[in-house]
Amino acid sequence: MTGALSDLLNNKPLAKEHLVQLLGITNQEEHEALLHHGLNTKAASVGRIVYLRGLIELTNKCAKNCFYCGIRAGNDTIERYFLSDEDVLQAAEFAYKNQFGSLVIQTGELSGPIFAAQIERLLKLIHRHTNNELTITLSCGEQSQEVYQRWKDAGASRYLLRIEASTRKLYESIHPADGNHDYDTRIKGLEDLKKCGYQVGTGVMIGLPGQTLEDLADDLLFFSKMDIDMVGMGPYLEHADTPMFDKRNLLLPANERFLLSLRMIALLRIMMPYINIAASTALETINPLGRQMGILAGANVVMPNLTPVTDRKKYLLYNNKPNLDKDASLSTATLNDVLSSIGETIGYGRAGDSIHFSHRQA
Ligand code: SAH
Ligand code: SF4
Repeated sequence: MTGALSDLLNNKPLAKEHLVQLLGITNQEEHEALLHHGLNTKAASVGRIVYLRGLIELTNKCAKNCFYCGIRAGNDTIERYFLSDEDVLQAAEFAYKNQFGSLVIQTGELSGPIFAAQIERLLKLIHRHTNNELTITLSCGEQSQEVYQRWKDAGASRYLLRIEASTRKLYESIHPADGNHDYDTRIKGLEDLKKCGYQVGTGVMIGLPGQTLEDLADDLLFFSKMDIDMVGMGPYLEHADTPMFDKRNLLLPANERFLLSLRMIALLRIMMPYINIAASTALETINPLGRQMGILAGANVVMPNLTPVTDRKKYLLYNNKPNLDKDASLSTATLNDVLSSIGETIGYGRAGDSIHFSHRQA
């Protein structure tokens, strides 16, 4: 057993070099011991309860040009959409009737007064329509502190803004230097969100071209230093109509990106026992059992897709996205069976707020 693993299992504090060793585990037994420790930590902290967030991909319109993303502004091969109020309310009603407890509204990054007002109006509309019983997370990219505050006041309680890669050099290698994709602005966004009183989430992509285990160890330390409340992270996946596709020969095989993502989840759970960690759709894209494997490594949130099937096909951040045709009721019924078969309980009707956040408030 590597020294770092036995130290970890004996609850010794984790320094960067230990994280690098643990992320680099190649032996299957050690890999499983690490994930198991992630699961045990979760059981003892937040419990074996999985919270549901119904995902509404409100629009694939985006003003930015991240090199990795299939809905980047520069991709002119896709049809752009913005869901109607009716579609949004139908998805919200589904979440409400099925006791999801919570919704996530995700969009490409748009800015300006029209967009700010659209989101504000939708937040109020959804709350009115669902008796104020659903908590809402936003994932709408970088905005001004005023806009974050306005949306918070209109009823959003959590915000997801992934740092994507916490080391500046790697961040800059995956975004264009066009003045629109600035590392410091991204960090300031996370700080502003905290000031507005959100439960703040961030995350990274795992297995990016040029990314090292040191970078990933730094990502874990970044989450801890930023005292983040929630994390969504998963493997980087190729999209053929993006500039990063040209670097696909530099990538780890998909299954290695997958296993590395599971070790990231386990280590994060051990380092930050009380945060919320999502089992990402990207995990499921590589392995059909990916979401439950993420849960068994320490994740406690899943985000079933509630976007109407016709528009779902247009929200492709990466190729081979799963469940494009599966309607929401079908995927939720399966999810219930799957999660109970692995010993988890779904937190039906519960908001599933980050316990780390309530500790931070106190
Ligand atoms: N526009 C918002 C939210 C939508 S994108 C924003 O960028 O914050 C949501 C997440 O999808 C991004 O944060 C990124 O981490 C992830 N993503 C985009 N392209 C991806 C890809 N090719 N592989 C894996 N994840 C990707
Ligand atoms: Fe737009 Fe977000 Fe994709 Fe970047 S990651 S191109 S901001 S949708």
